[in-house]
Amino acid sequence: MLISELYTAVQGEGAYSGTPSVFLRTTGCNLRCWFCDTPFTSWNPEGEDVPLEELRQRISAFGVEHVVITGGEPMMPVEMTELTRQLKEAGHFITIETAGTIFRDVTADLMSISPKLSNSSPKQDEKWLARHDETRLRPEVVAILTNRFNYQLKFVVDTPDDLDEIEEYLAPMANIDRRRVWLMPQATTREELAEKTVWLKPLAQQHHFRFSSRLHIEAFGNVRGK
Ligand code: SF4
Repeated sequence: MLISELYTAVQGEGAYSGTPSVFLRTTGCNLRCWFCDTPFTSWNPEGEDVPLEELRQRISAFGVEHVVITGGEPMMPVEMTELTRQLKEAGHFITIETAGTIFRDVTADLMSISPKLSNSSPKQDEKWLARHDETRLRPEVVAILTNRFNYQLKFVVDTPDDLDEIEEYLAPMANIDRRRVWLMPQATTREELAEKTVWLKPLAQQHHFRFSSRLHIEAFGNVRGK
């Protein structure tokens, strides 16, 4: 499997925020968000091809229960079905962080789904713009994932206007529990994060959603491997 990073850190977002975890970051993504904070998995994918068994051993060798499988888009590699099965068998708690555009038969304790709003569109890139916008929302995939797995939905919010789009997106999804919906500021620097937190926190409360900061940005800014 092509991976770009394998490291330990503290989960910085959502329900398990603050939990020490192993992060496996796969390379390759079917989207091209302009604000992508891991362009080395999407715009300019790079990585190391690691055999499955070796990868499972390398993950377990950290001796950490929680494993966060992220990307890129971690539902792309076909080997993810077998890797997650083996990790579960080895006693790990598995979170998969996905944009919710691809279904794969995986094993996960938490499906962390981050549907991409129109604020993600790469307006500067004509080649990717149409493809990104056609692909970024797959409510039928999100419906399967939220029915089959323990889930959380995370939305990256850039401006207060994004709330209307989130409400519109969720309106036909009767099964979604609003207490499992997290709003996070779109930010790549501490300053931006702090500035957007001021208005987003109360806005999340008003809409009965939850607010999530991004602890890794609070602590380090946008630094790779943290
Ligand atoms: S879905 Fe995630 S990895 Fe892919 S381009 Fe968007 S932010 Fe980057």
